[in-house]
Amino acid sequence: MKLGRCILFTVSAALSLAAHAREAIPVSAKTHRIGPGVYTFSHEGARNIFLVTAAGVIATDPISKEAAALLLTEIRAITDQPIRYVVYSHQHWDHVKGGQILKDAGATFISHHRCMKHFHRHVNPDVVQPDVTFEGASYDLTLGGRTLQLRYFGRNHGDCLIVMRIPEEKAVFIVDLVTPGGVSGGSGWMNDYYPKDYIRSLQAIEEQLDFEHMIGGHGAPIAPKSAVTERRLYLEALMAAVKAELDKGTPRGEILENIDLPEFRHLRNYDTHMKLNAERMLVYYAIGW
Ligand SMILES: [Zn+2]
Repeated sequence: MKLGRCILFTVSAALSLAAHAREAIPVSAKTHRIGPGVYTFSHEGARNIFLVTAAGVIATDPISKEAAALLLTEIRAITDQPIRYVVYSHQHWDHVKGGQILKDAGATFISHHRCMKHFHRHVNPDVVQPDVTFEGASYDLTLGGRTLQLRYFGRNHGDCLIVMRIPEEKAVFIVDLVTPGGVSGGSGWMNDYYPKDYIRSLQAIEEQLDFEHMIGGHGAPIAPKSAVTERRLYLEALMAAVKAELDKGTPRGEILENIDLPEFRHLRNYDTHMKLNAERMLVYYAIGW
């Protein structure tokens, strides 16, 4: 089923009849229904998705202890089905902390195999260790007649990030690679991003995944596929602009002031973050990754 007019139909509104049974949800937490059994939940700027199936719930990034508790309350307002799985998008703590409450509810935790070395090297007691990992480019998680397709495109933002596709909705859940309508990289520094691999991955996502909508781990709850393309074009233009200055022999100290991309000035945080993004590209050309 494709996403239709019911897009962003709020769970709170849908469940008004059951409101008496719910705890109060702070305004910072929001759940949206994006299709039959498919929801997004956001808390303090980070977002996950969850699937409610006939055999249980597939949840994703718990975000934080507080968020995971709210998420569980939201899920319980929708279904009594057990929480069967929690899928990590990647290893960064701002997305994967706080899952213990979901572990206690019986969930099996899943990540890409490559995340494990990060979890072992950088131990955080608030991060539940995955129970199941997969290697390679794809893993289809099926439950109750639904499938969440996990797709790995190699190194891009870190080296273990997976994109999750919901086939019935022609939608993908993309964390940190694309924040619709904005420039790159949270603070702007593009920490743990590998520019060339990042661009290559976005192109692969555009070409290899059949989807019409993306759900971002940050930013607007849902956006058209063109948001992925826009991010790729922005990054390509930025790299090209930095490279052109280097090729001209512009002294390094003057390069950033010369960089401007008028066609992308409409992007959120362009004024504050674009030069920081450009600085990451300068680092790429200085050291080769
Ligand atoms: Zn991240």
